[in-house]
Amino acid sequence: MTDFNVVAAGDRAIPAQPFVARHLIDGEWRTSADGATFERVSPSHGSVVTLASKGGSEDVERAVSAARSTFDKGTWSSTSGKERATLLLRVADLIDRERDRIALMETLESGKPISQAKSEIEGAADLWRYAASLARTMHGESHNSLGSDMLGLVLREPVGVAAIITPWNFPFLIVSQKLPFALAAGCTAVIKPSEMTPATTVILGELIVEAGVPAGVVNIVLGHGDPVGMAMTADPRVDMVTFTGSTGVGKAIVTAAAGTLKKVSLELGGKNPQVIFPDADLQDALDAVVFGVYFNAGECCNSGSRIIVHEDIADEFVARTVDLSRRVPFGDPLDPATKVGAIITPEHHAKIDRHVRDAAAGGADIRLGGSGLPVPGLNGQFYQPTVVANVSGNMSIAREEVFGPVLSVLTFNTLDEAIALVNDAEYGLSAGVWSDNVHTCLEFARRAHAGTVWTNTWMDGFAEMPFGGVKESGQGRELGRYGLEEFLEAKTVAMRIGRTRAPWIEPQTA
Ligand code: NAD
Repeated sequence: MTDFNVVAAGDRAIPAQPFVARHLIDGEWRTSADGATFERVSPSHGSVVTLASKGGSEDVERAVSAARSTFDKGTWSSTSGKERATLLLRVADLIDRERDRIALMETLESGKPISQAKSEIEGAADLWRYAASLARTMHGESHNSLGSDMLGLVLREPVGVAAIITPWNFPFLIVSQKLPFALAAGCTAVIKPSEMTPATTVILGELIVEAGVPAGVVNIVLGHGDPVGMAMTADPRVDMVTFTGSTGVGKAIVTAAAGTLKKVSLELGGKNPQVIFPDADLQDALDAVVFGVYFNAGECCNSGSRIIVHEDIADEFVARTVDLSRRVPFGDPLDPATKVGAIITPEHHAKIDRHVRDAAAGGADIRLGGSGLPVPGLNGQFYQPTVVANVSGNMSIAREEVFGPVLSVLTFNTLDEAIALVNDAEYGLSAGVWSDNVHTCLEFARRAHAGTVWTNTWMDGFAEMPFGGVKESGQGRELGRYGLEEFLEAKTVAMRIGRTRAPWIEPQTA
């Protein structure tokens, strides 16, 4: 059997008119200063689904001015945690109310399955609620043991104006990993969503306005990295940049931000391994491997894109992976049964294919897939579920982010060998281990160079638990209390009690 589980286009109509997206600057919806616009073509349906204002340096200038003056006036930063939490909770309720509308635009712009988009929007609402809880429980420190004549305070203050730059693969979820935490801290923000997926950030802006967040606190500029993202990063009135995207652009942001030494927080790429030991529950591991690599069509920083399987079970495990991969429902993202949708652009589709061809030319063995996947009734780009075996650690398919539904299989014999393969990577975002032996799991968790380690599971995430990477996967953390910390500065206040200070120069006596 070689065929795949293709979900043909259903009869669900996409909106007759494209979504019109404009900038949100100082509480007003605005077209670009020069009137420029751009279109987003749906990767699954091939038609224009969004018509967006295309920002330029003048639009960034206005948005940063609004965020700066709003912050400096204290409109938001001096509100109480209770007031901030109330508004964040209101936004969460509005996200729930608009879930289906947001999910539809997310699917049309990104190509992801509608059922997945709905879950992501629910998850995003939860992040707004969690951030609201942090707004009320945020506090500094007191030091009462500095001597009887001293009291020390550490105040937590908002960093100031945060530039938020997001990618296309989880547009609504990722802006929700940043913005509510920035707002809970008391920051104001200028957001730039990816040029591929502007619509749902604009809908979020509408909900923020409806919730009653004051004008100028949240500003949105649509457009491309050059000039919008670059201008935001270089602007001296911006105090920090929080960026999620590719490692290459992350490095460019660090360089640009160096000019003003602003704080930079980065969530970047990954080449995440799952190590499978023979004593694991192989059925569970198999399901997690297939989920890990095909979820979001592999366009996922946490994609489990390389598996490292013990040699004793490798042949059987790969054969079962191939069988299960054939059963994954690929196709029309608007069909609720679909689990894998379209690839973001034709250029990205070609890049995925290049990676697979290069691996084959280098001696790897394509066990399944390896080319585009036509979906009857749709005019978009889809890629076959692909399993590549006989991969060695030095091949580019084992080291670089393919960002597609492509699994690389490597093998090992000992725990030391597995750890060496895991850590032989420029990236360090996440890693997983499958074993019924708790000692194996714990040793793996301690020795893997990764921001997150999953044992006997994959890609479970919680608002309470921090997320981020080591090495070239980024710096800083999102979510949990750490996610709030990113948007806070510490200010030391040292207070003398009573007139106890010994003079540096003795006063003259009369
Ligand atoms: P990208 O780096 O191409 O773009 C991300 C954002 O940066 C977009 O809004 C883009 O317009 C903007 N941008 C581009 N050039 C810029 C510049 N010079 N200055 C400022 N902004 C600029 O990434 P992408 O293709 O949108 O997303 C895919 C990448 O994101 C993958 O590498 C993936 O691993 C990574 N990612 C990481 C995480 C994480 O949490 N670690 C999550 C999701 C995606």
